[in-house]
Amino acid sequence: GAEKTKNVLILMSDTGGGHRASAEAIRNAFQIEYGDAYKVFVKDLCKDHAGWPLNNMESSYKFMVKHVQLWKFAFHGTSPRWVHCMYLAALAAFYAKKVEAGLKKYKPDIIISVHPLMQHIPLWVLKWQGLQNRVVFVTVITDLNTCHPTWFHTGVNRCYCPSEEVSKRALLEGLEPSQVQIFGLPIRPSFCRAVLVKEELREELQMDADLPAVLLMGGGEGMGPVKKTAKALGEALFDKEQNKPIGQLIVICGRNKNLSSTLESLDWKIPVKIRGFETQMEKWMGACDCIITKAGPGTIAEALIRGLPIILNDFIPGQEVGNVPYVVDNGAGVFSKSPNETASLVARWFGPESDELKRMSENALKLAQPEAVFDIVRDIHSLSLGHGPLSKIAYPVTSSFYQLPIA
Ligand code: UDP
Repeated sequence: GAEKTKNVLILMSDTGGGHRASAEAIRNAFQIEYGDAYKVFVKDLCKDHAGWPLNNMESSYKFMVKHVQLWKFAFHGTSPRWVHCMYLAALAAFYAKKVEAGLKKYKPDIIISVHPLMQHIPLWVLKWQGLQNRVVFVTVITDLNTCHPTWFHTGVNRCYCPSEEVSKRALLEGLEPSQVQIFGLPIRPSFCRAVLVKEELREELQMDADLPAVLLMGGGEGMGPVKKTAKALGEALFDKEQNKPIGQLIVICGRNKNLSSTLESLDWKIPVKIRGFETQMEKWMGACDCIITKAGPGTIAEALIRGLPIILNDFIPGQEVGNVPYVVDNGAGVFSKSPNETASLVARWFGPESDELKRMSENALKLAQPEAVFDIVRDIHSLSLGHGPLSKIAYPVTSSFYQLPIA
Protein backbone atom coordinates (compact mmCIF):
# COMPACT_ATOMS: atom_id res chain seq x y z
CA GLY A 1 0.00 0.00 0.00
CA ALA A 2 0.98 3.63 -0.24
CA GLU A 3 3.48 4.74 2.33
CA LYS A 4 2.35 7.50 4.58
CA THR A 5 3.96 10.82 3.73
CA LYS A 6 6.30 11.71 6.54
CA ASN A 7 6.54 15.16 7.96
CA VAL A 8 9.91 16.71 8.63
CA LEU A 9 10.24 19.79 10.81
CA ILE A 10 13.49 21.74 10.58
CA LEU A 11 14.08 24.04 13.54
CA MET A 12 16.21 27.04 12.74
CA SER A 13 16.75 30.58 13.83
CA ASP A 14 17.73 33.13 11.27
CA THR A 15 20.52 34.62 13.33
CA GLY A 16 23.29 34.31 10.72
CA GLY A 17 25.86 31.58 10.73
CA GLY A 18 24.36 29.82 7.75
CA HIS A 19 21.47 28.20 9.64
CA ARG A 20 18.91 29.18 7.06
CA ALA A 21 21.11 28.11 4.15
CA SER A 22 21.64 24.70 5.74
CA ALA A 23 17.92 24.30 6.46
CA GLU A 24 17.04 25.07 2.86
CA ALA A 25 19.75 22.81 1.50
CA ILE A 26 18.30 19.91 3.49
CA ARG A 27 14.77 20.66 2.34
CA ASN A 28 15.88 20.69 -1.32
CA ALA A 29 17.83 17.46 -0.95
CA PHE A 30 14.78 15.70 0.53
CA GLN A 31 12.75 16.85 -2.45
CA ILE A 32 15.35 15.65 -4.96
CA GLU A 33 15.93 12.28 -3.29
CA TYR A 34 12.46 11.36 -2.11
CA GLY A 35 9.96 13.63 -3.85
CA ASP A 36 6.60 13.56 -2.12
CA ALA A 37 7.53 10.88 0.42
CA TYR A 38 8.57 13.65 2.78
CA LYS A 39 6.95 16.97 3.48
CA VAL A 40 9.52 19.36 4.87
CA PHE A 41 8.67 22.42 6.96
CA VAL A 42 11.26 24.97 8.02
CA LYS A 43 10.35 26.79 11.20
CA ASP A 44 12.22 29.92 12.18
CA LEU A 45 11.80 30.09 15.93
CA CYS A 46 12.78 33.73 16.21
CA LYS A 47 10.67 35.18 13.44
CA ASP A 48 8.19 37.97 14.10
CA HIS A 49 9.31 38.42 17.66
CA ALA A 50 11.13 41.69 17.91
CA GLY A 51 12.52 42.15 21.36
CA TRP A 52 11.95 38.54 22.38
CA PRO A 53 11.92 37.09 24.90
CA LEU A 54 12.13 40.20 27.06
CA ASN A 55 8.84 41.51 25.74
CA ASN A 56 6.97 38.80 27.59
CA MET A 57 9.54 37.78 30.13
CA GLU A 58 7.12 37.67 33.00
CA SER A 59 4.67 35.28 31.43
CA SER A 60 7.52 33.18 30.10
CA TYR A 61 9.03 32.89 33.50
CA LYS A 62 5.76 31.86 35.07
CA PHE A 63 5.37 29.24 32.38
CA MET A 64 8.82 27.95 33.15
CA VAL A 65 8.30 27.77 36.88
CA LYS A 66 5.14 25.78 36.30
CA HIS A 67 7.04 23.33 34.16
CA VAL A 68 10.29 23.08 35.98
CA GLN A 69 9.11 20.06 37.91
CA LEU A 70 8.41 18.32 34.66
CA TRP A 71 11.78 19.32 33.38
CA LYS A 72 13.41 17.73 36.37
CA PHE A 73 11.33 14.63 35.92
CA ALA A 74 12.17 14.45 32.23
CA PHE A 75 15.88 14.65 32.84
CA HIS A 76 16.02 12.63 36.04
CA GLY A 77 16.76 15.58 38.23
CA THR A 78 19.56 16.81 36.03
CA SER A 79 17.87 20.00 34.95
CA PRO A 80 20.59 22.14 33.41
CA ARG A 81 22.05 24.69 35.77
CA TRP A 82 21.33 27.51 33.36
CA VAL A 83 17.62 26.95 33.67
CA HIS A 84 17.80 28.61 37.05
CA CYS A 85 18.91 31.88 35.62
CA MET A 86 15.74 33.82 35.06
CA TYR A 87 16.73 35.24 31.73
CA LEU A 88 17.67 31.88 30.31
CA ALA A 89 14.62 30.28 31.84
CA ALA A 90 12.47 32.81 30.05
CA LEU A 91 14.37 32.12 26.88
CA ALA A 92 13.91 28.39 27.32
CA ALA A 93 10.21 28.83 27.93
CA PHE A 94 9.93 31.01 24.89
CA TYR A 95 11.46 28.30 22.74
CA ALA A 96 9.51 25.55 24.45
CA LYS A 97 6.22 27.25 23.59
CA LYS A 98 7.25 27.66 19.98
CA VAL A 99 8.39 24.06 19.74
CA GLU A 100 5.06 22.91 21.15
CA ALA A 101 3.23 25.01 18.62
CA GLY A 102 5.41 23.49 15.88
CA LEU A 103 4.63 19.94 17.04
CA LYS A 104 0.95 20.67 17.07
CA LYS A 105 0.91 22.30 13.68
CA TYR A 106 3.28 20.08 11.68
CA LYS A 107 2.97 16.73 13.47
CA PRO A 108 6.52 15.80 12.57
CA ASP A 109 7.85 12.27 12.21
CA ILE A 110 11.33 13.75 12.08
CA ILE A 111 12.77 16.85 13.71
CA ILE A 112 16.02 18.32 12.43
CA SER A 113 17.74 20.99 14.47
CA VAL A 114 20.24 23.22 12.70
CA HIS A 115 20.69 25.55 15.66
CA PRO A 116 22.93 25.30 18.75
CA LEU A 117 20.13 26.15 21.15
CA MET A 118 17.57 23.75 19.81
CA GLN A 119 18.42 20.35 21.21
CA HIS A 120 17.64 20.53 24.92
CA ILE A 121 14.33 22.29 24.71
CA PRO A 122 12.73 20.41 21.83
CA LEU A 123 13.88 17.09 23.29
CA TRP A 124 12.46 18.12 26.62
CA VAL A 125 9.13 19.03 25.04
CA LEU A 126 9.07 15.69 23.17
CA LYS A 127 9.75 13.84 26.39
CA TRP A 128 7.10 15.59 28.40
CA GLN A 129 4.62 14.83 25.64
CA GLY A 130 5.65 11.18 25.55
CA LEU A 131 6.80 11.48 21.94
CA GLN A 132 10.48 10.77 22.33
CA ASN A 133 10.19 7.27 20.89
CA ARG A 134 7.94 8.24 18.02
CA VAL A 135 9.85 11.14 16.58
CA VAL A 136 13.32 10.89 15.05
CA PHE A 137 15.41 13.77 16.34
CA VAL A 138 18.68 14.75 14.68
CA THR A 139 21.11 17.65 14.94
CA VAL A 140 22.94 19.06 11.94
CA ILE A 141 25.88 21.11 13.18
CA THR A 142 26.79 24.13 11.08
CA ASP A 143 30.07 25.10 12.77
CA LEU A 144 33.19 23.66 11.14
CA ASN A 145 35.33 23.46 14.25
CA THR A 146 34.65 25.30 17.51
CA CYS A 147 31.27 24.26 18.70
CA HIS A 148 29.19 25.54 21.53
CA PRO A 149 28.43 22.64 23.91
CA THR A 150 24.68 23.26 23.52
CA TRP A 151 24.96 21.72 20.06
CA PHE A 152 25.38 18.35 21.74
CA HIS A 153 22.71 16.30 23.46
CA THR A 154 22.97 12.62 24.25
CA GLY A 155 19.24 12.13 23.60
CA VAL A 156 19.44 12.61 19.81
CA ASN A 157 19.13 9.83 17.27
CA ARG A 158 21.96 11.31 15.25
CA CYS A 159 24.36 14.22 15.42
CA TYR A 160 25.77 15.15 12.01
CA CYS A 161 29.20 16.72 12.35
CA PRO A 162 30.77 18.61 9.45
CA SER A 163 34.35 17.70 10.42
CA GLU A 164 36.50 15.31 12.46
CA GLU A 165 37.21 18.10 14.95
CA VAL A 166 33.53 18.58 15.68
CA SER A 167 32.93 14.84 16.02
CA LYS A 168 35.68 14.65 18.65
CA ARG A 169 33.86 17.28 20.64
CA ALA A 170 30.64 15.35 20.30
CA LEU A 171 32.26 12.25 21.76
CA LEU A 172 33.78 14.30 24.59
CA GLU A 173 30.30 15.60 25.38
CA GLY A 174 29.16 12.03 25.89
CA LEU A 175 27.56 11.06 22.60
CA GLU A 176 28.02 7.44 21.53
CA PRO A 177 30.04 6.82 18.35
CA SER A 178 26.89 5.32 16.82
CA GLN A 179 25.11 8.66 17.28
CA VAL A 180 27.79 10.60 15.42
CA GLN A 181 28.19 10.83 11.65
CA ILE A 182 30.66 12.97 9.70
CA PHE A 183 29.37 13.88 6.26
CA GLY A 184 30.21 17.57 5.92
CA LEU A 185 28.32 20.85 5.98
CA PRO A 186 25.06 20.68 3.98
CA ILE A 187 25.31 22.91 0.93
CA ARG A 188 22.40 23.62 -1.44
CA PRO A 189 22.14 20.82 -4.01
CA SER A 190 22.20 23.21 -6.99
CA PHE A 191 25.67 24.11 -5.82
CA CYS A 192 27.25 20.76 -5.19
CA ARG A 193 25.88 18.92 -8.21
CA ALA A 194 26.67 21.60 -10.78
CA VAL A 195 28.97 20.53 -13.62
CA LEU A 196 30.78 23.68 -14.62
CA VAL A 197 33.47 24.60 -17.10
CA LYS A 198 35.51 27.68 -16.20
CA GLU A 199 35.89 28.93 -19.77
CA GLU A 200 32.15 28.74 -20.40
CA LEU A 201 31.32 30.43 -17.11
CA ARG A 202 33.67 33.31 -17.87
CA GLU A 203 31.96 33.87 -21.17
CA GLU A 204 28.50 33.67 -19.63
CA LEU A 205 29.46 36.07 -16.84
CA GLN A 206 31.22 38.39 -19.27
CA MET A 207 34.55 38.14 -17.54
CA ASP A 208 38.01 38.40 -19.06
CA ALA A 209 38.78 35.03 -20.64
CA ASP A 210 42.47 34.81 -19.69
CA LEU A 211 43.34 36.88 -16.63
CA PRO A 212 43.31 34.98 -13.32
CA ALA A 213 40.36 36.04 -11.18
CA VAL A 214 39.93 36.72 -7.48
CA LEU A 215 36.49 36.66 -5.87
CA LEU A 216 36.01 39.02 -2.93
CA MET A 217 32.96 38.74 -0.66
CA GLY A 218 31.75 38.95 2.94
CA GLY A 219 28.83 36.59 3.52
CA GLY A 220 25.22 37.35 2.69
CA GLU A 221 25.50 40.82 4.25
CA GLY A 222 28.78 41.88 2.62
CA MET A 223 30.69 42.20 5.89
CA GLY A 224 34.38 42.55 6.73
CA PRO A 225 37.06 44.79 5.15
CA VAL A 226 35.69 44.39 1.61
CA LYS A 227 36.14 47.99 0.49
CA LYS A 228 39.76 48.38 1.59
CA THR A 229 40.67 45.00 0.19
CA ALA A 230 39.07 45.80 -3.16
CA LYS A 231 41.07 49.03 -3.39
CA ALA A 232 44.31 47.29 -2.44
CA LEU A 233 43.68 44.62 -5.07
CA GLY A 234 43.03 47.32 -7.66
CA GLU A 235 46.62 48.48 -7.10
CA ALA A 236 48.38 45.17 -6.49
CA LEU A 237 46.93 43.45 -9.55
CA PHE A 238 48.15 46.18 -11.88
CA ASP A 239 51.66 45.80 -13.24
CA LYS A 240 52.99 49.38 -13.45
CA GLU A 241 56.11 48.51 -15.42
CA GLN A 242 54.22 46.70 -18.15
CA ASN A 243 51.22 48.99 -17.73
CA LYS A 244 48.72 46.13 -17.74
CA PRO A 245 46.63 44.14 -15.28
CA ILE A 246 47.83 40.76 -14.02
CA GLY A 247 44.42 39.72 -12.69
CA GLN A 248 40.72 40.57 -12.55
CA LEU A 249 38.48 41.19 -9.55
CA ILE A 250 34.91 40.12 -8.80
CA VAL A 251 33.31 41.70 -5.73
CA ILE A 252 30.04 40.21 -4.49
CA CYS A 253 28.54 42.62 -1.99
CA GLY A 254 25.51 40.54 -1.00
CA ARG A 255 22.80 42.70 0.54
CA ASN A 256 25.22 45.53 1.36
CA LYS A 257 23.95 48.20 -1.06
CA ASN A 258 26.20 50.91 0.38
CA LEU A 259 29.23 48.82 -0.37
CA SER A 260 28.29 48.14 -3.96
CA SER A 261 27.48 51.76 -4.74
CA THR A 262 30.71 52.98 -3.14
CA LEU A 263 32.77 50.51 -5.15
CA GLU A 264 30.87 51.36 -8.34
CA SER A 265 31.90 55.01 -7.97
CA LEU A 266 35.64 54.24 -7.99
CA ASP A 267 38.02 54.21 -10.97
CA TRP A 268 39.70 50.90 -11.65
CA LYS A 269 42.86 50.03 -13.56
CA ILE A 270 42.03 46.33 -13.70
CA PRO A 271 38.89 44.53 -14.94
CA VAL A 272 36.38 44.64 -12.06
CA LYS A 273 32.83 43.38 -11.63
CA ILE A 274 30.79 44.63 -8.69
CA ARG A 275 27.69 42.61 -7.95
CA GLY A 276 24.91 42.70 -5.38
CA PHE A 277 23.22 39.62 -3.99
CA GLU A 278 23.86 36.74 -6.38
CA THR A 279 21.70 33.64 -6.47
CA GLN A 280 24.11 31.52 -8.50
CA MET A 281 27.21 31.62 -6.37
CA GLU A 282 28.40 28.33 -7.85
CA LYS A 283 28.96 30.04 -11.18
CA TRP A 284 30.94 32.96 -9.79
CA MET A 285 33.06 30.65 -7.70
CA GLY A 286 33.53 28.30 -10.64
CA ALA A 287 34.78 31.18 -12.79
CA CYS A 288 37.41 32.39 -10.29
CA ASP A 289 40.79 31.12 -9.11
CA CYS A 290 40.76 32.11 -5.44
CA ILE A 291 38.46 33.75 -2.89
CA ILE A 292 38.76 36.33 -0.14
CA THR A 293 35.98 36.14 2.48
CA LYS A 294 35.07 36.33 6.12
CA ALA A 295 35.07 32.94 7.83
CA GLY A 296 31.42 32.05 7.17
CA PRO A 297 30.92 28.28 7.19
CA GLY A 298 28.68 28.30 4.12
CA THR A 299 31.03 30.30 1.94
CA ILE A 300 34.01 28.22 3.09
CA ALA A 301 32.34 24.88 2.35
CA GLU A 302 31.23 26.14 -1.07
CA ALA A 303 34.68 27.47 -1.94
CA LEU A 304 36.23 24.10 -1.02
CA ILE A 305 33.81 22.32 -3.36
CA ARG A 306 34.97 24.59 -6.19
CA GLY A 307 38.62 24.07 -5.22
CA LEU A 308 39.21 27.74 -4.46
CA PRO A 309 42.15 28.65 -2.18
CA ILE A 310 40.73 30.88 0.56
CA ILE A 311 42.06 34.04 2.16
CA LEU A 312 40.06 34.61 5.34
CA ASN A 313 40.07 38.27 6.27
CA ASP A 314 37.56 38.42 9.11
CA PHE A 315 35.37 36.30 11.36
CA ILE A 316 32.35 36.81 13.60
CA PRO A 317 33.68 36.45 17.17
CA GLY A 318 32.53 33.24 18.77
CA GLN A 319 30.75 31.27 16.11
CA GLU A 320 33.22 31.71 13.25
CA VAL A 321 36.58 31.67 15.07
CA GLY A 322 37.08 27.93 14.68
CA ASN A 323 36.53 28.04 10.94
CA VAL A 324 39.89 29.79 10.58
CA PRO A 325 42.15 26.92 11.74
CA TYR A 326 39.91 24.51 9.84
CA VAL A 327 40.94 26.19 6.60
CA VAL A 328 44.51 27.17 7.50
CA ASP A 329 45.63 23.95 9.23
CA ASN A 330 44.30 21.89 6.34
CA GLY A 331 46.37 23.89 3.86
CA ALA A 332 43.38 25.24 1.94
CA GLY A 333 44.06 28.90 2.66
CA VAL A 334 45.51 31.59 4.89
CA PHE A 335 44.28 34.16 7.37
CA SER A 336 45.12 37.84 6.95
CA LYS A 337 43.40 40.84 8.44
CA SER A 338 45.49 43.30 6.45
CA PRO A 339 44.01 44.36 3.09
CA ASN A 340 47.48 45.22 1.71
CA GLU A 341 48.96 41.91 2.76
CA THR A 342 45.97 40.10 1.25
CA ALA A 343 46.30 41.96 -2.03
CA SER A 344 50.03 41.34 -2.38
CA LEU A 345 49.52 37.65 -1.62
CA VAL A 346 46.97 37.41 -4.43
CA ALA A 347 49.42 39.19 -6.75
CA ARG A 348 52.09 36.61 -5.89
CA TRP A 349 49.62 33.74 -6.39
CA PHE A 350 48.81 35.15 -9.83
CA GLY A 351 52.55 35.48 -10.59
CA PRO A 352 55.64 33.80 -9.15
CA GLU A 353 53.79 31.69 -6.55
CA SER A 354 51.28 30.00 -8.82
CA ASP A 355 52.46 26.58 -7.59
CA GLU A 356 51.34 27.52 -4.08
CA LEU A 357 47.92 28.49 -5.45
CA LYS A 358 47.66 25.13 -7.19
CA ARG A 359 48.68 23.20 -4.08
CA MET A 360 46.10 25.00 -1.96
CA SER A 361 43.45 24.36 -4.58
CA GLU A 362 44.20 20.63 -4.39
CA ASN A 363 44.01 20.72 -0.60
CA ALA A 364 40.67 22.53 -0.84
CA LEU A 365 39.27 19.83 -3.10
CA LYS A 366 40.47 17.17 -0.67
CA LEU A 367 38.52 18.84 2.14
CA ALA A 368 35.40 19.35 0.04
CA GLN A 369 32.31 17.26 0.80
CA PRO A 370 29.86 18.00 -1.99
CA GLU A 371 27.68 14.97 -1.22
CA ALA A 372 27.18 15.91 2.44
CA VAL A 373 23.60 17.09 2.16
CA PHE A 374 22.55 13.93 0.30
CA ASP A 375 24.42 11.68 2.74
CA ILE A 376 22.56 13.41 5.55
CA VAL A 377 19.07 13.04 4.10
CA ARG A 378 19.72 9.41 3.14
CA ASP A 379 20.84 8.65 6.67
CA ILE A 380 17.78 10.39 8.11
CA HIS A 381 15.65 8.35 5.72
CA SER A 382 17.17 5.10 7.00
CA LEU A 383 16.63 6.25 10.60
CA SER A 384 13.01 6.96 9.86
CA LEU A 385 12.57 3.53 8.27
CA GLY A 386 13.82 2.12 11.54
CA HIS A 387 10.97 4.01 13.13
CA GLY A 388 8.54 2.55 10.59
CA PRO A 389 6.07 0.73 12.80
CA LEU A 390 5.97 3.56 15.27
CA SER A 391 5.44 6.27 12.74
CA LYS A 392 2.45 4.38 11.37
CA ILE A 393 0.65 5.22 14.56
CA ALA A 394 -1.38 8.13 13.28
CA TYR A 395 -1.12 11.35 15.17
CA PRO A 396 -4.41 11.85 16.94
CA VAL A 397 -5.64 15.16 15.75
CA THR A 398 -8.26 15.87 18.29
CA SER A 399 -7.07 14.15 21.44
CA SER A 400 -4.95 15.76 24.08
CA PHE A 401 -1.91 14.06 22.60
CA TYR A 402 -0.40 17.33 21.57
CA GLN A 403 -1.70 19.39 24.40
CA LEU A 404 0.11 20.75 27.34
CA PRO A 405 0.20 18.55 30.40
CA ILE A 406 -0.48 21.70 32.36
CA ALA A 407 -2.59 24.19 30.52
N1 UDP B 1 25.52 34.18 -0.65
C1 UDP B 1 24.74 34.22 -1.79
N2 UDP B 1 24.72 35.37 -2.54
C2 UDP B 1 25.45 36.46 -2.20
C3 UDP B 1 26.24 36.42 -1.03
C4 UDP B 1 26.26 35.26 -0.28
O1 UDP B 1 24.06 33.25 -2.14
O2 UDP B 1 25.40 37.44 -2.92
C5 UDP B 1 25.51 32.96 0.14
C6 UDP B 1 26.83 32.24 0.18
O3 UDP B 1 27.04 31.53 -1.01
C7 UDP B 1 26.68 31.38 1.42
C8 UDP B 1 25.81 32.26 2.33
O4 UDP B 1 25.22 33.24 1.49
O5 UDP B 1 25.97 30.20 1.14
C9 UDP B 1 26.62 32.96 3.41
O6 UDP B 1 26.79 32.05 4.45
P1 UDP B 1 28.04 32.15 5.42
O7 UDP B 1 27.90 31.01 6.38
O8 UDP B 1 29.31 32.18 4.64
O9 UDP B 1 27.93 33.55 6.14
P2 UDP B 1 26.67 34.35 6.78
O10 UDP B 1 26.25 35.36 5.75
O11 UDP B 1 25.60 33.34 7.11
O12 UDP B 1 27.24 35.02 8.02
